Amino acid sequence: MKRLLLTGAVVKCVLFASVGFAQEAVQRTAPPIEGGAPPPPIKVPLSGKALEKYSQAKKSALEYLAANRCSSFLRAHGVSPAAVSQALAAQKPHDGPASKITFGMAGITSSDPDPHSGDSIQAAFTDPTFLTMAISQPQGSDTYFNPTLLTRKIPYPYSNPVSLIHEALHNLTGESDVALAQELGYHGFVALEANIFLNDSLKKNCDSKR
Ligand SMILES: [Zn+2]
Repeated sequence: MKRLLLTGAVVKCVLFASVGFAQEAVQRTAPPIEGGAPPPPIKVPLSGKALEKYSQAKKSALEYLAANRCSSFLRAHGVSPAAVSQALAAQKPHDGPASKITFGMAGITSSDPDPHSGDSIQAAFTDPTFLTMAISQPQGSDTYFNPTLLTRKIPYPYSNPVSLIHEALHNLTGESDVALAQELGYHGFVALEANIFLNDSLKKNCDSKR
C-alpha cells in the first residue's frame, strides 16, 4: 500500500496482484545482453499477438467513444469525446516489460526532480508486488502495455477497449487516476480506489457501441 501511494503521482495503472498471478507477471525476462557499454535506453514497440489484440481493441474503443452513451457520459463530465478519440488514435503502443527506457527518458515524471525518473519502465512491469496494466506518457502519445494482460494470459477484470480509453485519458490530460476519477464523480483521494472507479465508470458507459 505504501508503495502504491508513493508512486501514485506517476501515471501508472496498477491492480493489486493476488497471490499466484503476480508470479506469472514476472516470468518475462529480457534477452541476455553481451558485455560492454550499457545499452541505450530503448522503447520496444508492441508486436505479435499483443499488437493484434491492441489493434482490435483500438478499433472497438474508437467506436465506443463515438457512441451516444459514452460521448454523452464524457461530455456530462466536461471531457471532450473527440479529444479522447484523437489521443487514442495517436497513441503509440509499446511493450512495457521489454522497454528498458527510464521514466525520465520516456517523459514520465511526476515532480521535478522525480526520485523515480532513473527507474526503468521494464522494472515497473516486473515488480512482483503489483500488476501493472499500462504506463502512459502524460500529454504525449507513448503508452507501455503489459502483453500478458492484453492477451489474457493472466486474468484482468476489464476489457481491452476500457484499458485503452483509460490510457488515452492519461495521454490527453496528463492527470493521475485520482484526478481523472474525481472528474467523473469520485470523491476520495486513494490511487487504487480511483483506478477502480475510473475503470468501472468506463466499463459501465464506454464499453459498447450503444
Ligand atoms: Zn490510470
